[in-house]
Parts: sequence; structure tokens; C-alpha cells
Amino acid sequence: MKKLLLFIVLLCSISLSFSQEKELSKEEKEKRERNIQAGNPFKEFGYKPKIATLSKGKYLEFHDLDSIVKIGSFTFHVKRKIINGYSQEETKYSEATLRPEIVSRWFSPDPLSDEFPSWSPYNFVKNNPLRFIDPTGLAPEDIIIWYKDENNKSQSFTYTGNNESNAPKNKFVQSVLDAACNNTTNGSGKNLQSLAENKNVKVSVAETSENSMFSSAQNAIFWNPEGGTETDNGTVRSPASVLEHEADHAVGYNSDSKSYFDRLNSPDSQYSNKEERRVITGSEQTTARANGEISGKQVTRRNHNGRLVITNGVSSNAINRKKTYNYYKLLDANGYQVNKELKKYKPKN
Ligand SMILES: [Zn+2]
Repeated sequence: MKKLLLFIVLLCSISLSFSQEKELSKEEKEKRERNIQAGNPFKEFGYKPKIATLSKGKYLEFHDLDSIVKIGSFTFHVKRKIINGYSQEETKYSEATLRPEIVSRWFSPDPLSDEFPSWSPYNFVKNNPLRFIDPTGLAPEDIIIWYKDENNKSQSFTYTGNNESNAPKNKFVQSVLDAACNNTTNGSGKNLQSLAENKNVKVSVAETSENSMFSSAQNAIFWNPEGGTETDNGTVRSPASVLEHEADHAVGYNSDSKSYFDRLNSPDSQYSNKEERRVITGSEQTTARANGEISGKQVTRRNHNGRLVITNGVSSNAINRKKTYNYYKLLDANGYQVNKELKKYKPKN
């Protein structure tokens, strides 16, 4: 936070040296004000100070609109206000060295960033250098499964849709492959399979102990291999089904990011937004049906709500009450309001 404030002070002083701006149309002015206020760190305190931005508010410069953002060497969940994970950073040639060619890249917002409102204009090739440095498709570009090896070092395995036999015997990697295999065997899982086979996209799958989600900022699926979802109508989906839901978001984003963001930013009274409506009413139903989690005319849910439950396995939708209860006890200990869940999942006797 200190660093952020320092940065703002720095920006303020830089802005003084700008010459006066040319006449803006009313819409442009309104748009600028919106962009500036989106980066106002004092909004929640009710202050509206003059915020200086390098593009004079033309581009969003402060916050990524995704729920997980990367700040320095850690990822931060902006909604839950917790640190999600750490990444190992090159320290020899990092910002820490203050080498001008490294530090200065953050002072040059992407001129086209206005077309990608959900991206910070300071991102580099959508945080996805492998995909954009090599757009020819000559190198294999598939699903990258990230895991920690026995020395707790980050490793990755590239899944091409049919190279399971070369996969490391790592628990998380095997869980992803089990889920993929379970879904395709049951006649679903098309989204994850197409991500694996598509040479033009590179989606990461990484482990989380929280709700599974797709982050467009990292083009990554954060998947909880133990976490299923129980909905308001009592339907439970297995972690494998949840993985396919997130894979569908990833397919949506990678096939046409503009339409993806349009849907994401279109509110939907029933399913939060149009992207969730697309996935929940689409692949979520066919996957849950194929995996035997709903039957006949049953639907998984008619809204976007769902509680994380720990199930008996990657492909199981049977709730493990003890583990689920312990999960919520941990959240409770960390100050989350989970009384309802604690009551609901309290093990019988
Ligand atoms: Zn979703």
C-alpha cells in the first residue's frame, strides 16, 4: 500500500509537467472521469481527489477488473482481500534493480488498451508471452498444468489431449487428467479437450483450495480438485464438472475476447451476467447430465449461486461432510461469515 501511495504521489508530480489538454467531447470527458474514478483508491472513504494518470484518464491504469490481480510477486484476490499465491520472480533483473529499461516499461500504457477495458494498460502481451511471441503455431500450445514437485518447486506439464502416459505422477496433475478422462468417457468435457488440442491457445490450470474460477488476466483456470458445488436446489456437481464449467469460460475468452468481455459486462438478473448465463445454461447442464449428477429434466441451478463442498473424489458428487465442515471451520477461523454452512455441513454425531 505504501508503494501504491508513493506511486500515486509520483504520478501526481509527473502530471504537473503535462501541458493543457485539447478540447474533449462530452462523452470523452465522461469516459475519462469514469476511468479516473475506477483508479481512485480513496473511493471507499468517500474522497474524490484529483487523480493523475499518465494517459490523463484515457485508459484505465490502476486496477485490473479481474477478481485475481497480480501485484509484484503475488496474486491477490481483490474481492476476498487475501493473497492467493506467490510466484517466483527473477530478482537479478527485476524492477528491484531500478534498471531504466525495466522500470520504464510501466510508464508506457498500451495505446490500444482502450479496446481491452478489463486489462491494465501496463500488461505485457496479456500476461501470456508464450502465446503471443509464438503466434505461428509451430510450437505446441496446449494446456499447461502447474504443480509443485516434491521439493516444492513450481513445475509444469503440457497436456496435449492425448499424452497422459507422459504425465508426472504428481497428485494435482493426475487429478486434472482424471477429471478430463472422466468427462470425455461420459461423453462431455469437450471444452477442456478442445483447449488441450488447440495449438493456438495456451491456457494454464493451477491448483486452488478455494472456489474454482477462470481468470482472463492470467488466462488460467484455478481449479480445486476436491471442490464440488452445491446449488440452491440441492444439486451437487463434482470437481470434474466444475472444471468443465471453467474450461468453457476459457474457451469463450480465447475464441473471442471482445465478445467474452461484452457478455461478462452485461448484467443478467438471473445468472449475474451473460457469460455465466451462457455457461450455466449450456455446458454446465450437458456436463452434469453426462456425469449423472442431474437427471431427466432437472437443472443444476436457476441462478449463479453455489457453495463449495468437498466431495469424495475428483469425479464424485457425494459430499464429504467432515471435510466440508472442516473447510468452513477454517474460513470461520479466518473471519468469514459461514454460520449457515457450518450448520448445514455439521457431521451427524
Ligand atoms: Zn462461471
